[in-house]
Amino acid sequence: MNDVTSIDRTQRPYSAAAQAFLARKPALFINNEWVASSHDQLLEVEDPSSGKVIGHVVDASDRDVDRAVAAARIAFDDGRWSGLPPMTRERTMIRLADLIEANADEFAELEAIDNGKPKGMAGAVDVPGAVSHIRFMAGWASKISGEVIPPYTMPAGQVFGYTVREPVGVCAQIVPWNFPLLMACLKIAPALAAGCTVVLKPAEQTSLTALRLADLIAEAGFPAGVVNVITGNGHTAGDRMVKHPDVDKIAFTGSTEIGKLINRNATDTLKHVTLELGGKSPVVILPDVDVAQAAPGAAGAIFFNSGQVCVAGSRLYAHRSIFDQVIEGVAATAPFWAPRASLDPDAHMGPLVSKEQFDRVMGYIEAGKRDGASVAVGGDAAPAAGGYYVNPTVLVDVNPQMSVVREEIFGPVVVAQRFDDLDEVAREANNTCYGLGAGVWTRDVAAMHRLAGKIKAGTVWGNCHAVIDTALPFGGYKESGVGREQGRQGIEAYLETKTVIIQM
Ligand code: ADP
Repeated sequence: MNDVTSIDRTQRPYSAAAQAFLARKPALFINNEWVASSHDQLLEVEDPSSGKVIGHVVDASDRDVDRAVAAARIAFDDGRWSGLPPMTRERTMIRLADLIEANADEFAELEAIDNGKPKGMAGAVDVPGAVSHIRFMAGWASKISGEVIPPYTMPAGQVFGYTVREPVGVCAQIVPWNFPLLMACLKIAPALAAGCTVVLKPAEQTSLTALRLADLIAEAGFPAGVVNVITGNGHTAGDRMVKHPDVDKIAFTGSTEIGKLINRNATDTLKHVTLELGGKSPVVILPDVDVAQAAPGAAGAIFFNSGQVCVAGSRLYAHRSIFDQVIEGVAATAPFWAPRASLDPDAHMGPLVSKEQFDRVMGYIEAGKRDGASVAVGGDAAPAAGGYYVNPTVLVDVNPQMSVVREEIFGPVVVAQRFDDLDEVAREANNTCYGLGAGVWTRDVAAMHRLAGKIKAGTVWGNCHAVIDTALPFGGYKESGVGREQGRQGIEAYLETKTVIIQM
């Protein structure tokens, strides 16, 4: 039943709705309208399950970006969104969430076609996640308020001091290709709740669901110019957004390398910046666990979404006494995670997003082998007529100097190491420039809290991994990011504080 050698990786036929969407004329969404680009440059849309070009989107020009920013600027400055009753903003956002939900199957399919993730995963994780971010943040629209604060140095009644929370302004939001719809909604939701206007740019590899989202933005009744969606390359369109004088805030999710560049480029105009960047997240398994539970958990931590997850549990630390059992347990899940075409109903893991990503991941695996790592399972590409399939891979006999241990691979590759005590594993877990997530598996409550305290990461999971909830803040320590998204802090990131002091 687990015969992975006979998997047919031919992509399945697309639905009529997906075909119709792919056949649409490439356009940009500005001022609630589909408009043509100022030039005729296009980006190819590729299905990574087949490697075939299946459509095109606009590669936005500087003029296109300027036009989108101008639309957002005007929509912000005239208060057509921030000036609405909070109840109206909330209800418009809820309508958007409802519309996404009503079109969930189409979104899941488009995401699967564009990104390569299994349609079942997109339907179970990405689409409901996108909906819940919008619904949660919609509630904040009516709960943003300042305070009346009595001054410290003056007698009562002499001055009246209070604060007002105001939307930060025009937000340029740049998202990556690993969770395209989810990231787009996670970005626009707090901005809209706060009263900001937005120019959203999906990643050049995965623009489809952001464009489909734009249809629904118009349908939900957002005023024109409140959300604008432009497609295009990062180093051109994205760069223009980052440097644009009429943009007040940048929110970016992507690689640490580009995050640093964006931070530098946003400095001249001193924009507010939120960065959610890379990781090399440790998964620590203590000796008391039930390996039958923890090993599949550790496997899911790295193989979910083909390891293309910023919090992927890519460094596995298992206690010496159970190390071999854990590795066997993780390896035993390989048939479950064997990559399949994204529209194959049996798929749990798809191909990588692109040839570039495939080459990068295979390059790391080869480097690991050259450096002396042993392959416990996988370590190769999966056979297919086209597409970018890498088998779930576990590397052992590694050391902290190897690139596979130090660098973010962003693929289904985990490096496994032994440890003897808590202090040692905490030190190793922190031996990285990243600090995004960490998983700890144990029934020992004291050890759990001790490690949660010692590990420098924005999120520490206990007996689970990559559990994300819109009410709980998310972000990185160290080179994994700046600021927090989600929860109350996610809204704060889109607000200015104005202090008003009135002499009585
Ligand atoms: P990855 O390396 O995982 O492909 P990137 O960090 O390069 O991810 O890209 C994430 C997002 O950042 C994409 O939307 C991409 O277009 C955008 N981007 C890339 N380079 C720049 C840049 N110089 N300025 C602004 N955005 C960029």
